[in-house]
Amino acid sequence: MEKGRVYLVGAGPGDPKLITLRGREAIEKADVIVYDRLASPKLLKYAREGAEFIYCGKQSSNHTLRQEEINQLIIGRAREGKKVVRLKGGDPFVFGRGGEEAEECVDAGIPFEVIPGITSGIAAPAYAGIPITHRDFTSSFIVITGHKCRGNEEIDINWANLAKAVDTILLYMGVSNLPDIVRNLIAHGKAGETPVALVRWGTCSEQKTLTGTLDNIVEKVQQARFRSPAIIIVGEVVKLREKLNWHEQKPLFGRKVGILHTTEPSSVFIDKLDELAADTTEFSLVATNTPSNERNLSPVLEAETADHIVFSTLHGVREFFRSLRDLKKDIRSISGSFYARTEEVAERLRECGLQAELFSGKIVHKIQGGQRVLLEHKHGGKEFASGLTAKGAVVNEWAAAREEVSGSAVDDVFEAVKNKTIDMLAFSSAEAVEAFILASGSKEKGVRLASIDILCADGETAATLVNFSIKPDYILQGESVMEYTSQLSITA
Ligand code: SAH
Repeated sequence: MEKGRVYLVGAGPGDPKLITLRGREAIEKADVIVYDRLASPKLLKYAREGAEFIYCGKQSSNHTLRQEEINQLIIGRAREGKKVVRLKGGDPFVFGRGGEEAEECVDAGIPFEVIPGITSGIAAPAYAGIPITHRDFTSSFIVITGHKCRGNEEIDINWANLAKAVDTILLYMGVSNLPDIVRNLIAHGKAGETPVALVRWGTCSEQKTLTGTLDNIVEKVQQARFRSPAIIIVGEVVKLREKLNWHEQKPLFGRKVGILHTTEPSSVFIDKLDELAADTTEFSLVATNTPSNERNLSPVLEAETADHIVFSTLHGVREFFRSLRDLKKDIRSISGSFYARTEEVAERLRECGLQAELFSGKIVHKIQGGQRVLLEHKHGGKEFASGLTAKGAVVNEWAAAREEVSGSAVDDVFEAVKNKTIDMLAFSSAEAVEAFILASGSKEKGVRLASIDILCADGETAATLVNFSIKPDYILQGESVMEYTSQLSITA
């Protein structure tokens, strides 16, 4: 039997993209993933099918599994020969009891590896616009736990040194003990006007930052009912936030956005929303990906004799490559030029190793009489074929087979709107709008969507929404989110 192995993996501070490449690789290969509440559950999507997920809680006052149980679980699964990932918030060796878990492995004779993660004490201030060192303010920082300094209990923090010898203090697990911490720092010589910030759920969409001074922070925290998990930052660097607060200013910061897509998620669109700081949840409107029996094999054969091959939809690209595979053909049997009608489709073609230009008026102009054009069009859309035939080009058209649209995905969307787990709905393409309408059938979609903001990827998506009497509120324009006006949809 293969020997098991334990990977103590740092999940990073919350934003799922802040995991390391090695951490993600470990998740991909794991048989078992034991994770807690500070590790983003979104990381589980990298796991292979059939991997076992075990949630072990870990809230300071409410441990779902006790540490001994966690240790037993990890060792037990590894003894069965499994690859066990212990996914821990931040870095496994920073206040994460990762050291103890590693010791257990050694004692049990189980090989283990540690994959460091970005710790929240560094990441949360960074996302709040607070550099923990800065030449003008600090030359040192310290990370400490605020957990042990309770009431009159014996505490092992050297307050005198702490107050005088370091510039920036980063406290983990300190919210409930903040009054003691502040009292001790002031008693040992820190000035009452020293700036303080608390960053809750740093790097996550729920990130909240509160600033003050040692003199007033306790009152402010009480007033705001500020809770853990938070990093407390004490030091002059906190002042820099006024100038450097970058993340919380992003257009979709704090918004919980449900993304509707067909076939496969559009990575370009999701990445864009991600960059704008949205917290995204995906809803796939396609129930099954089972290919239809009478799959259309002709586009590949047609492409072999075409000079220009134009794709309009992601679905079309997918079907094309599926056909290529089924026919056991190689892409090099196609010598024509590839074009995409949208940037999203161009990106998908690039992912497949094809540099496709956008199919613009300029390209149409270049096409000569007698040349063969293979045109994938959307269902019901034959908009520009006539222009090409007028030039004497031989145009061959095809449409990718429709896949089944899922009614239950639409129910999930309405449920999420009702429960407020999303507060914005984003349509990634005109196809997604059509699929949504098709699936929602008689579910009074217009009325039920009135309570939620609607964002669309581009003008075409907006126009399709309007066609179905759903008014988009926002539209993506490059790096920004614009309020939608019908004029914009025409120019976009
Ligand atoms: N190993 C973790 C720390 C675990 S201790 C790490 O390296 O980050 C738990 C404490 O970490 C919390 O009480 C809180 O102080 C801090 N913490 C973890 N994630 C956080 C986040 N996203 N934002 C703010 N503080 C966080």
